[in-house]
Amino acid sequence: MTDPSFTPQHPGWTDWSEQMRQRIRSAEDLARFVEPCEDERLAVKALADRFRFVITPYYASLMDPEDPGCPIRKQVVPRMAELDDPAGLADPLDEVAHSPVKNVVRVYRDRIAFCVNNECALYCRYCLRKRMVGDDDWTMKKRELQQGVDWIRRTPEIRDVLLTGGDPLVFSDDRLEWLIGEIRSVPHVEIIRLGTRLPVTLPFRVTDDLCKMLEQFHPIWLNTHFNHPKELTPEAAEACDRLTRAGIPVGNQTVLLAGINDDAETMKRLCEGLVRMRVRPYYVYQAQLLEGTGHFRVPIERGIEIFRALRGRTSGYAIPQYVLDTPYGKVPLDYPYLRGREGDQIVVESFDGRIWREKNPL
Ligand SMILES: *Cc1c(COP(=O)(O)O)cnc(C)c1O
Ligand code: SF4
Repeated sequence: MTDPSFTPQHPGWTDWSEQMRQRIRSAEDLARFVEPCEDERLAVKALADRFRFVITPYYASLMDPEDPGCPIRKQVVPRMAELDDPAGLADPLDEVAHSPVKNVVRVYRDRIAFCVNNECALYCRYCLRKRMVGDDDWTMKKRELQQGVDWIRRTPEIRDVLLTGGDPLVFSDDRLEWLIGEIRSVPHVEIIRLGTRLPVTLPFRVTDDLCKMLEQFHPIWLNTHFNHPKELTPEAAEACDRLTRAGIPVGNQTVLLAGINDDAETMKRLCEGLVRMRVRPYYVYQAQLLEGTGHFRVPIERGIEIFRALRGRTSGYAIPQYVLDTPYGKVPLDYPYLRGREGDQIVVESFDGRIWREKNPL
């Protein structure tokens, strides 16, 4: 049981380690923040051995206490629908088969995703890496991290290293400094990227000390993971601001999730809000065919219509690339604005459906 006095008024609220210690892991803790509905209550029990729930008090404080349909609640509180998904797979991208060494995922010639940590501040119910998140078998010992670095060192094609997980920012500053320093010492590594949800789920993690440490290793890029405008809090905005002031370009990856952000209005508010925070919407992922996530999946045609509805109606900066990730890499999912060729003309369709013919001799 966590400390019932740990609320936004508590002096330790903005201390990220204290937030980690006070994380919600039981039905009793959850009941301090929301009134669980019957389905949530049953699911917390039924999923205890499969994919436990863990929520930071900060993120829990964004949940609507009365509405089980709250988009924050749906992302992190278990539901019985997770047990009813015959189509789902454990590792839909076959990442294990793409690993030359433990937790290095190589799909492209020049860049890798390196899953350096199997822990996260909280567990998203639709997580692509559910198979490893919170599971001790996937913990990376220092020796195993070193083996990943050694592989990068002897693989000269790798110019871009994405540190992901789980969440690399759950590491202490010291461990992260050691790891990034090791990777930075490899001459052929041009850029280092961080994939982290902590600016959203535990923004107090982004301290001035962390940013100062990261600054030594430029060029560092960072992608975070906002899914809904409710997550765009002053605390999250400050975290992103600290990062951008340290010269780190901040991007965002969203997962398209049914009942959370699968309408053009919500997506537009999210993306415009991100741009106001100087965070560039980068990718929106089609939800994978991942076990226990059938209730989150949106048909791709519907996804395409959502982004078509944004085109021409907001800043280009606020329009991310909608993609389907596959074992062969990410595939853009775009409305077919290019309609084809007519003789020496190319035929295109504008955002509002008007046809334009442009001379384009072969
Ligand atoms: C997404 C991903 C990358 C990075 O892809 P970009 O399109 O460059 O952002 C690299 N490796 C793997 C395995 C990935 O899934
Ligand atoms: S933060 Fe990312 S890796 Fe961690 S549980 Fe959520 S989706 Fe999975």
